[in-house]
Amino acid sequence: MNKQDMLYRGMAMDGQFRVFAAQSTQTVQTARDLHDLSPINTFLLGKMLTAAAMLSLDLKGPGSEVSLRLDGDGELRGALVMCNDLGELRGYAFAPSVFFEEAAENFLPVKHLGSGSMTVIRSVAGKQPTMGHTTLVEGEVAQNLAHYFEQSEQIPTAVNLGVLIDKEARVRAAGGLLIQQLPQADPARAELLIARLASTPNISDLMDMGLGIPQILKRFLFTEKDFSLEEAHPIQYKCNCSRERFERGLRLLGKEELSEMLDGVEPQCHFCNASYHFSGKDIAGLIASLERKG
Ligand SMILES: [Zn+2]
Repeated sequence: MNKQDMLYRGMAMDGQFRVFAAQSTQTVQTARDLHDLSPINTFLLGKMLTAAAMLSLDLKGPGSEVSLRLDGDGELRGALVMCNDLGELRGYAFAPSVFFEEAAENFLPVKHLGSGSMTVIRSVAGKQPTMGHTTLVEGEVAQNLAHYFEQSEQIPTAVNLGVLIDKEARVRAAGGLLIQQLPQADPARAELLIARLASTPNISDLMDMGLGIPQILKRFLFTEKDFSLEEAHPIQYKCNCSRERFERGLRLLGKEELSEMLDGVEPQCHFCNASYHFSGKDIAGLIASLERKG
């Protein structure tokens, strides 16, 4: 499937539920290649990127961004992903080459995170960011995201996230569904939906069989007449780093720390591995400009 990755949003069952969905195969493949991720990390980062893309549909206003972070005391350690209101995603794994001998279908990244937490931060340009935080529970990224919504935002939520890779670690399919129950929803219909979700096969397996996101939702979860879905916007892996951004970061270190770097430095972006060279002369220039400011 070489189709452009896409975010979808919709309503179902007379507006009692809202639906977010993402096709993210290319985005996850780009992340895998960029960071040379081990299979377990492709599952972890792939699911988190897909989740962050769906969370970004709730962002309000230009320049806003959502970040999703998992931290654990296990060998896998965790990962951080971000998505802005334009559907531009970036992220990195904390232990990108950790490898486990397991059959691909048994890869359950959260199990290897050990004890830890999930953090969601939403930032809107010019405003104080909002942050929610939950302890990791049994289950995978999807169950932890559902748990986050229940605990932190009191919204009953069902999540299905899938990443499918082949023997060469290429991403065959990646995608996600997120369904939220609105306050006026009929409990009986909510129960019906949960039962249907529970019997829906993994989304990446269905995509690999050639089904698109709208078809999957129609076939397994909603009948045609109580469901509407539209394309929101494309998503892609895109970093927003720049030399100016790194220069601002260096200035924040202050004169004293900069004076230890007079041989030059070459910081590297965690999200896209781009590196920016600052010569000793550049550093001396930064120190001089900080001195002028006092
Ligand atoms: Zn970058």
